[in-house]
Amino acid sequence: MKEMTEIQKKAKELLYEPEYQSDKNADVRKAAADFAEGYKDFITRCKTEREVADWSEQTLKAAGYQLYDDRKQYAPGEKVYWIQHKKAVLCATIGTRSMEEGFHLLIAHIDSPRLDIRPNPLYEAAHFSYFKTHYYGGIRKYQWATMPLALHGVLTRADGSTVTVQVGEDVNDPAFCITDLLPHLSAEQNKRELSDGIRGEELNILIGSDAVEDEEIKEKIKLNTMMLLNEKYGIVEKDFTRAELEIVPATPARDIGFDRSMIGGYGQDDRVDAYPALMAEIEVKNPAFTTVCVLADKEEIGSYGITGMGSTYTYDWLRQLCASQNADPIRAFRASLCLSADVTAAYDPSWASAFEPQNGTYAGRGVAFFKYTGSRGKSAANDATAEQLGYLTRMMDANGVAWQIGELGRIDLGGGGTVATEVARRGIPVVDIGVPVLSMHSPFEVVSKNDLYMAYRAFTAFVNAQD
Ligand code: MN
Ligand code: MN
Repeated sequence: MKEMTEIQKKAKELLYEPEYQSDKNADVRKAAADFAEGYKDFITRCKTEREVADWSEQTLKAAGYQLYDDRKQYAPGEKVYWIQHKKAVLCATIGTRSMEEGFHLLIAHIDSPRLDIRPNPLYEAAHFSYFKTHYYGGIRKYQWATMPLALHGVLTRADGSTVTVQVGEDVNDPAFCITDLLPHLSAEQNKRELSDGIRGEELNILIGSDAVEDEEIKEKIKLNTMMLLNEKYGIVEKDFTRAELEIVPATPARDIGFDRSMIGGYGQDDRVDAYPALMAEIEVKNPAFTTVCVLADKEEIGSYGITGMGSTYTYDWLRQLCASQNADPIRAFRASLCLSADVTAAYDPSWASAFEPQNGTYAGRGVAFFKYTGSRGKSAANDATAEQLGYLTRMMDANGVAWQIGELGRIDLGGGGTVATEVARRGIPVVDIGVPVLSMHSPFEVVSKNDLYMAYRAFTAFVNAQD
């Protein structure tokens, strides 16, 4: 090897050049590929927040977590969990230090953009039956047409019983879809703005075309569809009024690329952070700081509601944990640190003008920190301190975690936020971190396996921190 000149040494010493760690490390690549297998299975099985919460509860129980009892006192090393109204997950491992020295919180969200079935959804037109939908979260509506869709959710019947529905995931299941115009007749639609390409009221789900044989019946297709639903689920049309049904892409997660270096699938915002966060929490043993992992709901619509981070349930739980130790929660909150784990946009060379290359976050360069989020002059941003970023990035470097830092995209083009602002509102210091995603919020999002793995390594280092 050629010896470096003094100036080349200076360049290495002084300049910062983010790297693609897996380019130089086959072991990282292998470990990332192995970790991705469990993750792909998870996002294929769990496509709604309820399904994630249910899967998490089973996984936590199997890992020895006890259902939290607020009358009990827990010893260091003990693991407890709580499920908030079937849609959000809280779990913790009690630390050896006093809770007044702070919690190490990991928060990700488990709701994803999708189409929800409306309260009065069923209708027929031109010998077809349909469900009407109302989209949930920030979707680009045109992306949801002409692809196989699945129905997930629950209905509550008149007698108070509940029935769980999941149709379209098994290859032998029927699937559903939204139709679009043929190019031959699209001259008028082509003149619409892209954001208006398919409108909210056009996101109707095709669910049947067979009719009952009775000339007296007015809506023969609708009744035929309802009879099939009644036979299978014991429901009547009125039960839709008390249902929670969601339309999601019917496709499984799969490897992307000849090299299988990436993962494509639905709902990776933000399950690509939720999964490694939960794994890191489950694996931690006797942490110094009490670790708390929250898988929250409703982030995509502003963290409202009883299962969103705007609700008090997480902070109430932390206060209850403090009370059981006679620790002062105000001291505990002040001394805590939270990672708000949520995805960011991966720099996309096909859409380069949307990004500022020097401050983009790149798929394959590791987990991405964000000092701030927000839009247009950092409006509505949480803005972490230099000291918090110093603490965390030193921790990453000491643990061999590939990380990068940047912004969502070009200034004044748009922007976004995370639950960090909700956490900060309660007086808990918080820093944004997450996996970069291509085609974010689309029915088929893409991430780098390396970044997923580095998120896991980052969260593992965080829950195991000694000081
Ligand atoms: Mn998100
Ligand atoms: Mn999102």
